[in-house]
Amino acid sequence: MIVHLESNISQEELSTIKEKLKSIELKTSEVKTQFGEYLIGIGKKEFDIRAIGTMKGVKDVHKVSDAYKLVSKKWKVGYSQIDLGDGVLIGDGHFQTMAGPCSIESEAQIESTVQHLLENNVKIMRGGVYKPRSSPYSFRGLGQEGLKSFYKICNANGIKIITEVMMKEQIADMVDYVDIFQVGARNAQNFNLLDALGEVDKPVMLKRGISGTLNELLQAAEYIFSNGNERILLCERGIRSYETAYRNTFDINAIPILKAKTHLPVIVDPSHGIGIRSFVESIALAGIMAGADGLIVEVHHEPEKAFSDGQQTLNYQESKTLFEKVNKTVQFRDAL
Ligand code: PEP
Ligand code: MN
Repeated sequence: MIVHLESNISQEELSTIKEKLKSIELKTSEVKTQFGEYLIGIGKKEFDIRAIGTMKGVKDVHKVSDAYKLVSKKWKVGYSQIDLGDGVLIGDGHFQTMAGPCSIESEAQIESTVQHLLENNVKIMRGGVYKPRSSPYSFRGLGQEGLKSFYKICNANGIKIITEVMMKEQIADMVDYVDIFQVGARNAQNFNLLDALGEVDKPVMLKRGISGTLNELLQAAEYIFSNGNERILLCERGIRSYETAYRNTFDINAIPILKAKTHLPVIVDPSHGIGIRSFVESIALAGIMAGADGLIVEVHHEPEKAFSDGQQTLNYQESKTLFEKVNKTVQFRDAL
């Protein structure tokens, strides 16, 4: 159960509500986010929610029996929107594309990418400075110095940044230089990291685990929300299956299912989703038609020379074509 509290609730009213919940054998947790205050009640006993809904200090009360609660659409019927400032909105009718290299490699590369994004009206650049690599001998990113260059160049050009955080110890150094923290597939159930990101007032894009179910993804998002941060994006990036003809199995089903289960925006990552450059466009457009609120895609001035994921990375010509088709597809979809 979710008890949505009034913002001006008194300590006395809060204690009375907690006593009431205790009396019906509900174990309660208090959640305070940047947008609201909630009490989460967990228990089995049957009761009439009207008895709580009419109490002083209660804004609303909802029965949500799923393992995840605050990220559920069962209590928040509309869709959430992430506002990055400067008119860059994601979700609830606003689609955004995020594009850039798998890894940040040099200042020249950042500058070139930023120009390409500006020419194509793309407002968010992706790029990893801390890279989770399957092999310890692969390029592992430029780290904090790379992030500072990334920020300097993007900020001077009005481009927002999304980049991956791998450990909670990195958050404090990174927080002033990012617009969205990305949690990678390999960290989708790193609960210490998720807890820590709940205490940060920056949006978080949470990727689905390599073999993660949608239920696990939503519960991971609940960690962030219940620690105080409501600004969460979910990302479908393909899952591991028995198929070996492509890198991952992009799960198109995930998009409508997530849109039905949660109010959070859903982003598609066709680059990791299929892992083959020539098919990234088809999967991106399919993801949009399935209802995605945004796209994240790997782009490089010379994919053949990219430090990581070159085989699934688009060049500028290919990405220009994709961006045009994305715009057309979003318009077509929204007019249906
Ligand atoms: C990435 O975005 O480059 C990345 C490593 O993604 P994932 O965590 O989905 O593998
Ligand atoms: Mn990558």
